[in-house]
Amino acid sequence: MTEIPKSHPRYASLVARERVAAGVKEGITSVQGLIAQGRGEAFDYLIGELTLPSALKATRTAAALLLLAERPALSVNGNVAALASREMVDLAAALNIPLEVNLFHRTEERVRLIADRLRSQGASEVLGEKTDVLIAGLDHSRARATRGGIFDADVVLIPLEDGDRCEALVAMGKKVIAIDLNPLSRTARKASVSIVDNIVRAVPNLIQAVRDLRGLERSELERMVREYDNKETLQAVGEEMQSYLAEQFSALDS
Ligand code: ATP
Repeated sequence: MTEIPKSHPRYASLVARERVAAGVKEGITSVQGLIAQGRGEAFDYLIGELTLPSALKATRTAAALLLLAERPALSVNGNVAALASREMVDLAAALNIPLEVNLFHRTEERVRLIADRLRSQGASEVLGEKTDVLIAGLDHSRARATRGGIFDADVVLIPLEDGDRCEALVAMGKKVIAIDLNPLSRTARKASVSIVDNIVRAVPNLIQAVRDLRGLERSELERMVREYDNKETLQAVGEEMQSYLAEQFSALDS
């Protein structure tokens, strides 16, 4: 990996870019994953590379949903593995649930490499290597899933997922939590809760929220979920993004 000096003003973003590039070299991330990362970086730039208040609210609601779930599931793809494998392992441990490798550009080799990486980071159970069921409405390789994992889950976290799979999971009656920097992506629009934030900030925030909310009464968690409106959140993201950009453009005068 190229050494990035810590003093660089965009250190975190450049480190993330290096991690995804390293993921491609190691066979964990697809080449298309580089393009997805570039799109994510562009949206991150437009929000100042910081967690927006609306994203934090969505993150806390997501934590409430995961804590209320009977069978929550966490999905990991090549970009997620490159950027946040240890954090996803920590989240799975905090919830005491397995992780499931789920790839858009599936190859058996890549699934195995990602599962190995998650295990080497301490994951106790990784699903996805042996799929045994298909999700309706998707083509064969994208539909592959595992019983006892995403297929039977009532709440699923899908970071950096494509819109078709998000829609198919929602159509199965699941509550779907997305992490996606593009507030206008099909995924962000279709999900039950959309965390518009970089995965490298969102997953640590989600772990913290799970710890903070764990002691609350179920009724309190249910109230949080009931009062949440995803469309309102996406509109708030748009407003926060616009006011950040207005500030930046007005600073060009000075
Ligand atoms: P959709 O089908 O939902 O409209 P897409 O197929 O256009 O989305 P992809 O190109 O598969 O989306 O990219 C996945 C999404 O992940 C993009 O919307 C991108 O903004 C987002 N993304 C990429 N990197 C990150 C990251 N580090 N953190 C959060 N989101 C990211």
